[in-house]
Amino acid sequence: MKHVNLMIDAREVAASDGRTFDRLDPMTGAIASRAAAAGTADARAAADAAAAAFPAWSTTGPNERRAKLLAAAAALEARAEDFVQAMLTEIGATRGWAMFNVSLAAGMLREAGAMTTQITGDVIPSDKPNNLALAVRQPVGVILGIAPWNAPVILGVRALAMPLACGNTVVFKASELCPATHQLIGAVLNEAGLPPGVLNVVTNAPADAPAVVEALIAHPAVKRVNFTGSTRVGRIIAETAARHLKPALLELGGKAPLVILDDADLDEAVKAAAFGAFMNQGQICMSTERIVVDAKVADAFVAKFAAKAKSLPSGDPRGQVVLGSLVSTAAADRVVELIGDATAKGAHIAAGGTREGTVMPATIVDHVTPAMRIYGEESFGPVVSVVRVGGDEEAIRVANDTEYGLSSAVFSRDIGRALGVAKRIEAGICHINAPTVHDEAQMPFGGMKASGYGRFGGTAAVDAFTELRWITIQTGPRPYPF
Ligand code: NAD
Repeated sequence: MKHVNLMIDAREVAASDGRTFDRLDPMTGAIASRAAAAGTADARAAADAAAAAFPAWSTTGPNERRAKLLAAAAALEARAEDFVQAMLTEIGATRGWAMFNVSLAAGMLREAGAMTTQITGDVIPSDKPNNLALAVRQPVGVILGIAPWNAPVILGVRALAMPLACGNTVVFKASELCPATHQLIGAVLNEAGLPPGVLNVVTNAPADAPAVVEALIAHPAVKRVNFTGSTRVGRIIAETAARHLKPALLELGGKAPLVILDDADLDEAVKAAAFGAFMNQGQICMSTERIVVDAKVADAFVAKFAAKAKSLPSGDPRGQVVLGSLVSTAAADRVVELIGDATAKGAHIAAGGTREGTVMPATIVDHVTPAMRIYGEESFGPVVSVVRVGGDEEAIRVANDTEYGLSSAVFSRDIGRALGVAKRIEAGICHINAPTVHDEAQMPFGGMKASGYGRFGGTAAVDAFTELRWITIQTGPRPYPF
């Protein structure tokens, strides 16, 4: 069992009232970690520490910030094994998923380091004589980052890397489902040389999340919020941030469609569909949740896809498996419920469908219709729906028939045709002839509709985490009306 403290001003401290909460291993039921349960006073202390560190950090040169972020990337990689163990016990993740998390997260820190010299401004022509007008990007203050458990290292690091690169200080609120994994990010970055207070980590018991988050958003030093998590909580964050007039970047749920047109390379589509639907047991915001396939090729596709799904081993993540454990029994129960609802309404199980505890094999539900819950609800599990359509127009309509709009994909041998479809899919991200699951640090990552707003990655994140100021210099005489 790991003991997890709060990380405030580079010191590990217990909650001020000594409370803790336990996170259980979803596979074994044993206590994976016992973490400090912060209250609102602890949350405010973390924001105070970040506020105190802001003046010095915001005025460090870009190369100094870059050096710290590069050192943090190396330190993260050096602790890869600790992250593997933390993710295995807290969320039932496979070694492969954990190692991918560490490597992409290290890449995000390196990319953020590279961006420190790319935070530029403009000189704007002014109509006033002798006036030099500048658009200048400045650090904004303390940024609150909130991340979920499912890709805990990637999304935890994403919540803080570009905010730090832009000269802000950070309070990172960990997920209750992976407090040790998230706290380890804070510990590693502090050890790598971030000055005290620049990055602070708060862990909290599930029941305290609303009060702790409200206290952090309300704190006067906190200027912006970034949140990755469910659409349900995203709405709460958006409302709270709006009440305090603080901008929020929201990365929320998804129901990604993978559209297969009648001229698609079905073998490539199968590979992409399996990876997109079943990586990390389908618990990725970009997971392929719906295969929208032209009826002309649907039978051939489903036969090949079912064979592939049945070949993927599932089981205890400590073993050699492709699919490990779901995050909780409740998550597995919900997936079973969605499958039961679909089959009761006429859907056909082409692969998988049963489960043992928190382990479920790769599951394909064919002939899904809008009457079934699984057509619209995010399953966040190793189950994918197949919806058969008659032609491109219907494929586009079905792909867009969702409240979500994060990732999507289109398969066709005719790139012009695929691009035409891609442009009409209402999602922040669309990949042609590639899976819906794809993330790189330098890309503008983000959603539309109920998947949220704002973009992480590259220059888009510079916009999100700096204040754009208009500063003028009167360089000579200026006429006045009186
Ligand atoms: P969640 O929304 O349940 O929890 C996220 C965070 O919200 C946690 O830190 C939790 O403490 C906090 N929270 C919970 N209730 C709260 C409340 N009432 N007030 C304030 N804060 C509260 O999400 P989760 O289950 O951890 O993650 C899964 C979800 O995240 C899925 O919907 C998935 O699609 C989404 N997700 C999105 C992205 C993306 O980039 N768009 C990436 C990964 C996951």
